[in-house]
Amino acid sequence: MKRNPHFACVSERYLFQEVLKRKEAFLKEHPHAKIISLSIGDTTEPLSKTIVEGLIESAHSLGKVESYLGYGPEKGQEALRKKIADALYQNKVSSDDIFISDGAKCDIGRLQILFGSDCTIGLQDPAYPAYLDTAVLFRGPKIHLLPCEPKNNFFFNIEEMKKVDAVFICSPNNPTGAILSKKQLEQAVAFAKKHGKIIVFDAAYASYVQGDHLRSIYEIEGAEDVAIEIGSFSKMAGFSGVRLGWTVIPSSLKFADGHPVKADWSRLITTFFNGASVLSQKAALSALSHEGLKEIATQVSFYLENASLLRNAFINLNFETYGGEHSPYLWVRIPGKTSWQAFQELLDKSHIITTPGVGFGPQGEGFLRISSFGRRSHIEEAIERLHKFS
Ligand code: PLP
Repeated sequence: MKRNPHFACVSERYLFQEVLKRKEAFLKEHPHAKIISLSIGDTTEPLSKTIVEGLIESAHSLGKVESYLGYGPEKGQEALRKKIADALYQNKVSSDDIFISDGAKCDIGRLQILFGSDCTIGLQDPAYPAYLDTAVLFRGPKIHLLPCEPKNNFFFNIEEMKKVDAVFICSPNNPTGAILSKKQLEQAVAFAKKHGKIIVFDAAYASYVQGDHLRSIYEIEGAEDVAIEIGSFSKMAGFSGVRLGWTVIPSSLKFADGHPVKADWSRLITTFFNGASVLSQKAALSALSHEGLKEIATQVSFYLENASLLRNAFINLNFETYGGEHSPYLWVRIPGKTSWQAFQELLDKSHIITTPGVGFGPQGEGFLRISSFGRRSHIEEAIERLHKFS
């Protein structure tokens, strides 16, 4: 059988596998080096008490004949959809428009199938690599990169949206840590409405938003006619291993022929997906309980404090530094070096691994993404070691 040619259009390895390969090569030469990772965006604090209790309770109920559950509804348990609508959207979104998933990344992949192979996808440059890779694997290189630079708060020229059918927007952003302003999102929604585009708004880091910045695109009037929103429990509640996310597809969002997008999404997930784990859904319900919400807010604050410590450290060393205020990520320009050179130098001199900005798109060249997920002692040690690099 002939190989699917689209696989030749993506790099051989997913970005973080390449980072891992370089770390292993370094450890081969320096087996005693104590490497600190500020690379992959993965949570490090254990699950909170209320979530663990929910998981135990759910496991026990699955072990009894009277409370055993098999397949559930593909779009997720009603109680959880209602809880998300209430606790996270103050019921501005209908629970019927929420589809529970096994994580945001899986839904990013499924969205490519929803849109089909004929459409052109627009991506922020730099962007979370899963958008590019899933888009290219599905339809080949029919991707339009929208350059996002510091001078425009990492937003693209809105007119560029003319060239695409659907655009992925992430705020707070991975990798830059930037948060888009209400005005920028209003412009995107107005443009999408006028020109018949769909916005996929990735709100995986919404729980890191401070003050009155936007947490959801549905806070913009009219967004329900043009936008899909993706959410995740991974960075909000430490579910990167437990796995749970959701996608909102409003009933009023229609394709050009008037067909509801939600109807096709329902068809897709009932075909492709048999529902998220019962255990994860119960854990998510616990996370959104009164106690659970307090506990997860404490964890998010902890990571934001890490981010603030790292941000101050890079600024004090005179690096051009972005993000870290509404996001666990910092985006740091390393003058005079390519991203991979900077990555290697930080590894060689300070035994710290980061993520090369260029791995997120051409506009990321010369930057490093710094993740502030980590134990406090590791973050403090990393800050000490930064002096060897500067
Ligand atoms: N979206 C963004 C912007 C992310 O950074 C990530 C994970 O790092 C995801 C989605 C994936 O989240 P999940 O763990 O729910 O698949």
